[in-house]
Order: sequence, then C-alpha cells, then structure tokens
Amino acid sequence: MTDVLQVGALAAGPGEKQYGVNEFSVQGQAYRLPMWLVNGAEPGPTLVVTAGVHAAEYASIAAALDLGRSLDAEVLHGRAIVVPVMNMPAFSARSIYVCPLDGRNLNRVFPGDAHGTASEQIAAWVFGHVIAQADYYVDLHGGDLIEALVPFTIFFRSGDDRVDQASMALAKAFGIRYLVSSETPGSTLSAATRAGVPSILAESGGQGIWTAEDVARHTNGLNRVLRHLRMLAGSAPEPTAFTMLEQFLWLRSDHDGFWYPAVAVGDRVAAGQDLGHVTDGEGHVLQTAISPADGHVLFIVSSLAINKSDPLLAVGA
Ligand SMILES: [Zn+2]
Repeated sequence: MTDVLQVGALAAGPGEKQYGVNEFSVQGQAYRLPMWLVNGAEPGPTLVVTAGVHAAEYASIAAALDLGRSLDAEVLHGRAIVVPVMNMPAFSARSIYVCPLDGRNLNRVFPGDAHGTASEQIAAWVFGHVIAQADYYVDLHGGDLIEALVPFTIFFRSGDDRVDQASMALAKAFGIRYLVSSETPGSTLSAATRAGVPSILAESGGQGIWTAEDVARHTNGLNRVLRHLRMLAGSAPEPTAFTMLEQFLWLRSDHDGFWYPAVAVGDRVAAGQDLGHVTDGEGHVLQTAISPADGHVLFIVSSLAINKSDPLLAVGA
C-alpha cells in the first residue's frame, strides 16, 4: 500500500502511526477531536473504531485508548482510524446521554447535518471524514452513568445481503454472547450500515465504572475483529457461543418519579411479567413496567430518579 491515510488535517504515510487532534468549526466554535491514524505497512481493509459517542461509557473509551496506543503500523495489514472520545464536550462535563452543546443525543442524529445543531454538525464531520473511509466499523458503547447492562453486540439488517452478512460475521467475531439485531434510527450503526459499511455496536461496562474485565471484553473483541479481518497475523478467532435476539424492546417512563426495578440485568423474563414500578413520593404506583415478550433483560436504568420519557430498561427477545 502506498497511499497516505488522511483524515482532515492529519495524515499518516504507509507504515506510520499518527496521534493528533483535528479541529473544525461547530456552531462557529473550534471543536477538537483527538484520533489515531494507523496506516499499515501491508495492504488490507480500513477499520474505523469509535467510542465516546456517549462520553460517560468509560469501559468503551478506555478500550479505544488502549487500541490506539497499542496498534503497530509496521505489522498492521490495512488501516485503522481510532476516535476514542467522539463527544469531548460531554466527556468533560460527565454528561449522561446528551451533548451539553445542544442537549441532543449524538447517537440519534447520524449521519448528521453540516448546517444543523451542534450534535448534527459533529456527526456530519465524523461521518464525512472518518466513517465514510471505513470498510468496516465498530462503535464501542456501554451502560451510561445510570445504566447497568449485560454485555451485548448490536448489528442491523439493512436488507443489503452482502453488508448484513458481513455485519453479522463481525458481531460473532467480537465474541460477546448476546447478539441483538436492531435498528435505532440516527445511530452511528444505522447510518454506517445504510451507507454500505458492515458495522457493529458493542456494549460492555456501565454505571460510570470501568473494570479491567469490562475493558478487556472490548479490547479482546477488537483483537478478535482484527484477526477476523486478517488485519493482524494469527489464527482466526475461535467461535464462541451466542444467543441471537431479533428484537430490542425498550420500556420508558410515562411519569416523573421514583424507579424501582424488580429484575436484574441478564434475567430471563416472560411476556406479561412485572419488571418494576414507577412511583410517586408517597409510594403510589404510577406505572408498572410489563415485559412485552419472553426474553432477557439487557439493560436497566439504575437511578432511583426517573423522568417522563426516560428509558427504564430493555428486553432482548
Ligand atoms: Zn451508548
């Protein structure tokens, strides 16, 4: 491979690795986006890895930092672009779900709008300059500051068989037990897959904690994906057992109040089962969360405080 890998103002020649900060304008202010460019000495595909779209999902950010720091351009086949914290304003603010510049969820506005709100402009730059270069894309997530979860990997069936088969193979290669086939409109995963890039979104960790085990689940998954794509030497990853879930069913609060979950993440639940209650201050039940299907509890909001329209939990079925 002889081509230079270029993202915005940063560049890496063949066999080179660069860490730097791309600066671009968001709502007239300078937005600074750190990233690694790793341009392998050997030919191969381009893998994009992002984290920190949700900037308090720390296990995913720690894993992206580890990946960027450890990748070696001299032995890499192909190219990697690693963006460890896409939403730096949210990271600094320790913001749950949303970007403090506009109060929007960055993972609901992809592929973005260069003339839109702050989050839409960030998404547009990242989509146009980074994700558009990908042959494969992995977006790392976890539970947010107020979310507990069992690890799972989401992919999305777009209807393009080539892309969908490659996405499912990536999801299996990552090595987490639960695979969820689901689309969230405006997510990184949705926009990239619809643009023809095989993509996955992997979830590990949560509640502001980033244990070595949670980080390793992501770093091991990335290493397995790199071997699956033959970007690193070594055998193809050993197949792991998985449970395929075709529905990702979110329950939301209809009230401001107090949230009392009655189940734990990973629990098997049955359709019609009582999963928890939203109460008022006196303890009157305002809402009972009822499982919409037989399935597994994938995440639970763990804060007692709950606001109208907040997620309560999700069932994979
Ligand atoms: Zn997330």
